[in-house]
Amino acid sequence: MRYFVLSDIHANLEALDAVFKAGADLHYDRLLILGDLVGYGADPNAVCERIRDLKPDALIRGNHDKVGSGIESPEGFNAVARSAIRWTYEALSETNRQWLAELPQGPVIVDDLIEICHGTPFDEDAYVFDDLDALRAMHAAERPLCLFGHTHVQVGYCLENDQFTLTAVDEQRPLVVSLGQGAQHLINPGSVGQPRDGDARAGYALVDTDKRELTLYRLEYPIEKAQNRIREAGLPEVLAQRLALGR
Ligand code: ZN
Repeated sequence: MRYFVLSDIHANLEALDAVFKAGADLHYDRLLILGDLVGYGADPNAVCERIRDLKPDALIRGNHDKVGSGIESPEGFNAVARSAIRWTYEALSETNRQWLAELPQGPVIVDDLIEICHGTPFDEDAYVFDDLDALRAMHAAERPLCLFGHTHVQVGYCLENDQFTLTAVDEQRPLVVSLGQGAQHLINPGSVGQPRDGDARAGYALVDTDKRELTLYRLEYPIEKAQNRIREAGLPEVLAQRLALGR
C-alpha cells in the first residue's frame, strides 16, 4: 500500500495543486491529510473543495480548521494568525465551514503500521519542537509510525534499540527513511502551504508499507501567484513574504 501524506495546506491552492500533480505521478493508493486545511492563505474554499473531491482515506482537523470554522475561539493565536483566521471565517462558504467543523480529531489509526495526528497523539494542539517533545509523543503513539504536522517542519525522529536519531532538515530531498521492524518513528511530512524550516518548497511524503519506506519530498510551486492571492485578499503582507522565505 502506498500512502500519500499531506499536512498544513493553509489555503494555499497553488502549492496544493502542484503537490496533487506530483502525487498522481507517484501512483499512490490512499490519501492521508493531517489537518490545517485553512488559515493564512487566500483560497480556503477552493482548498476544501479540492480535498473533499479527492475523498481522503483519513482526514483530521488542525487548530486553524477549528477556529476557521468557528468551533473554537482564536484566543491562543498571535495578531497575524488571528487577523487571517477572522478573514478565513468570513470567506468560507456555509457548506465548507460546516464540513470543516465536523472533521474528526486525531489521533486516527490508519492500519497496523500507521497512525496520524495533527500535533501529538496525546493532544491535537501540542507541538513537537524538540527531542523531549518527540519522546513524549512516541510514548503516546499506538503504531510504529506516527505521522504528525502542526510545526510546518519536515523532520523525522526514530527510536530503535534505545538509540534516538533525528532525520535532519538540511539533508537532500527526496529523502528515503527506512521503517525498520521494531523501531518507533515519528515523522512530519512538512507543510504543503506554509513551510517554516527555511525551505520555501512545498513538503509532503509517501509511505510504502510493502517496502517499509517513507520518502520525504520538496517541490517548487508558483510562490508569487500564492503571494499575489494573499495581497489581493487584503490579508497581512507578512503572510505573503514568509512564503518566499520558508519561515
Ligand atoms: Zn498549521
